Amino acid sequence: MSRAYQKVPIVDTARRCGLVLDSRTLGRREVEASCPFCGDRGPGKHHLYLRTDTDQYRCVLCGAKGNSVTLYAQTHNLSNKEAFLELTAGGKVYPFPQQPTPQTQEKQPRPLSERHEVYTDMLGLLSLSDEHRANLLERGLSEERIERNMYRTMPKTEQGRRLLAAMLRRCGHDLDGIPGFRTYYGDWTIAGPDGFLIPVRNKEGLIQGLKIRKDDEDGGKYRWLSSRDMPNGTRSYSWIHVTGDIHSKRAFLTEGPLKGDVASFLSDDSLFVCLGGVGAIGNLDEVLTGLGVTEVVEAMDMDMMTNPQVRQSVLKVRATVQKIPGIKYRKYTWNPAYKGIDDYYKSLAATM
Ligand SMILES: [Zn+2]
Repeated sequence: MSRAYQKVPIVDTARRCGLVLDSRTLGRREVEASCPFCGDRGPGKHHLYLRTDTDQYRCVLCGAKGNSVTLYAQTHNLSNKEAFLELTAGGKVYPFPQQPTPQTQEKQPRPLSERHEVYTDMLGLLSLSDEHRANLLERGLSEERIERNMYRTMPKTEQGRRLLAAMLRRCGHDLDGIPGFRTYYGDWTIAGPDGFLIPVRNKEGLIQGLKIRKDDEDGGKYRWLSSRDMPNGTRSYSWIHVTGDIHSKRAFLTEGPLKGDVASFLSDDSLFVCLGGVGAIGNLDEVLTGLGVTEVVEAMDMDMMTNPQVRQSVLKVRATVQKIPGIKYRKYTWNPAYKGIDDYYKSLAATM
């Protein structure tokens, strides 16, 4: 038998899986449906995008993705082969569409105020290594600002990590639901690569989460402190970092909390709103509206527009901001010899 490609239409498959389709999107290239994997955090929402051209699906909320065959296989508890055979055989069955129940979902991080308390006490127990301090000074930060921003070195040994967790528990903190903490054979510890921690704060200065600047740069320089998919672990989100003068009417928009901290320090505490990743728009409109700014200046890295995928994300950020009423949007350009706005400000500081 020839294994010629056989198209298995994704929308038809979704119907056979009993997914609720958003009727307004039918006939489009991308049809939206309820997500059977996460339940969309409630009824009436459709986070699962069905691509009719490639017959693939992706949930923008939980990240589940695959094609017609894997969608059918997973919702019917079949192997991919069994699913394929059923989908391509005659005698189709269309169950009545059913709203999935939310919260087969993974554990969510504890509320901001509680994360802030645990993280603040945790940073209070840690110190900053000479090597990491030198790295931060090199970026243009002052000793005083390094102290104030509370960068800290991750404990290097497993023993040190367990001790940190034990001390926090002794202070009365429950580590369950705090991204980064997990158990290891029953003992609480903290997960993550070696490096230094960067507090990611909201406009009130509360620590939402922590990013790690890794010592080992393989596979990216930065990583969220997270213990997703680990015993008693908790996922992180790409929280948006706010740094600088929050009363400013003008916000600079960039990617990366440390970049924002440095650029803000080098520009007399200009207000910086820093995405956790260029694709992580999340509640950007809420953050900007909450700050009450009237002008947003895009200050993404210069090389971002050369990578087509990153470019798409930047354009999406732009479109999101431009939709907010009452905010003027412009693009900041600097000498392209400098990749990021932090490098550029550093060069200015050096010539003064
Ligand atoms: Zn989902």
